[in-house]
Amino acid sequence: MLSVEEALQHLLQSARPLAERETLRADDALDRILAAPLVSTLNVPPLDNSAMDGYAVRAAEAIEGAVLPVSQRIPAGHIGQPLAAGSVARIFTGAPTPDGADTVVMQEDTELVDDGVRFLKSPKPGGNIRRAGEDIRPQQTVLPPGTRLGPAQLGVAASIGATELNVYRRLKVAVFFTGDELVMPGTPLPPGRIYNSNRAALKGLLARLGCEVIDLGLVADTPQATRAALGAASRQADVVMTTGGVSVGEEDHVKGAVEALGHLDLWKVSMKPGKPLAYGRVGEADFIGLPGNPVSAYVVFCLFAAPFLRQRMGEAARGAISFVAPAGFSLSKAGGRREFMRARLEEGQVALFPNQSSGVLTSLAWAEGLVDIAAGASIAQGEPVRFMPLSELLP
Ligand code: AMP
Ligand code: MG
Repeated sequence: MLSVEEALQHLLQSARPLAERETLRADDALDRILAAPLVSTLNVPPLDNSAMDGYAVRAAEAIEGAVLPVSQRIPAGHIGQPLAAGSVARIFTGAPTPDGADTVVMQEDTELVDDGVRFLKSPKPGGNIRRAGEDIRPQQTVLPPGTRLGPAQLGVAASIGATELNVYRRLKVAVFFTGDELVMPGTPLPPGRIYNSNRAALKGLLARLGCEVIDLGLVADTPQATRAALGAASRQADVVMTTGGVSVGEEDHVKGAVEALGHLDLWKVSMKPGKPLAYGRVGEADFIGLPGNPVSAYVVFCLFAAPFLRQRMGEAARGAISFVAPAGFSLSKAGGRREFMRARLEEGQVALFPNQSSGVLTSLAWAEGLVDIAAGASIAQGEPVRFMPLSELLP
């Protein structure tokens, strides 16, 4: 059995980033992965400018009690005249400071009088001026390749005037679902059957990552059907993902199909929920086989498949943030495998969902994160435990 870290390392070693790139309008690039460094040609901000509504002054003149006349008015978007000696400029937030002014005094530190503006306290020289280039300099790489373009990153790109961005093409992921017991929502449920919940969850997870999903639907538990689906999937997609059928029972045909058409590494990972994690190659496509149990499939996706796919999409690795919080539960002698229990924060403590069975999908809908419990651990109420927010395991 591999440890969680060993399994992840094996998987990441196989995740070749996509080679193909495309240029997109920045407006269409949300959640895509930048493929080339984004370099500024500008200073941001372009000019020294006021951080406040107030008065641009020479600090040496605008001392406490001084009254100075207002010689000009500079709204945002306008360039003023050089500041006449012994005067101040009315200025607004974002307006370039005029030549000669070294300081902006905020309006609240002044009062208007007949002959101009009285200063209520002596200013700090240089105060309230945002310097040209204090955010970004010309030639500066503002976003490195491998950056996921979220709202903040698109804001930065816009701040240097970028209209087009070079990104990796979208990763194509083909999915199919094994299990003769499965039926799709929208059809009646015959006795002995269950609805396919993995499809909805997995498609949602892949959409979150920004993958293009090719849905090949349900596949019968026969070697022929499984092989046909796998062959078709591998010809259309960069990555093929399945749920179920990777154990060793007679009804588990995914393993044999991958071995027949390509090669398979099947790892038993020492963890709960989960355990089987299959990785392989079929033709040019990667293959990832998730467990059938819905909770196992989801957790294994978050811990292993998501980092793999993100690297495969060209995204630069960035470990997920987790933190320590006091246990709102006690546990005596956890099982023999490291366990990722469904949990949420309640009044600053980590609370567990009462039923931690790997078939109980409501535990994940309730949970905000996973709590990482070492094999065999005993945990007293209030003892620190590691909490991994689910929102951190996905972008
Ligand atoms: P398997 O790995 O194929 O033996 O499946 C393990 C368990 O997960 C069985 O109880 C299956 O019925 C269940 N299961 C497999 N696939 C799905 C699915 N797509 N939706 C809901 N349950 C599933
Ligand atoms: Mg099955």
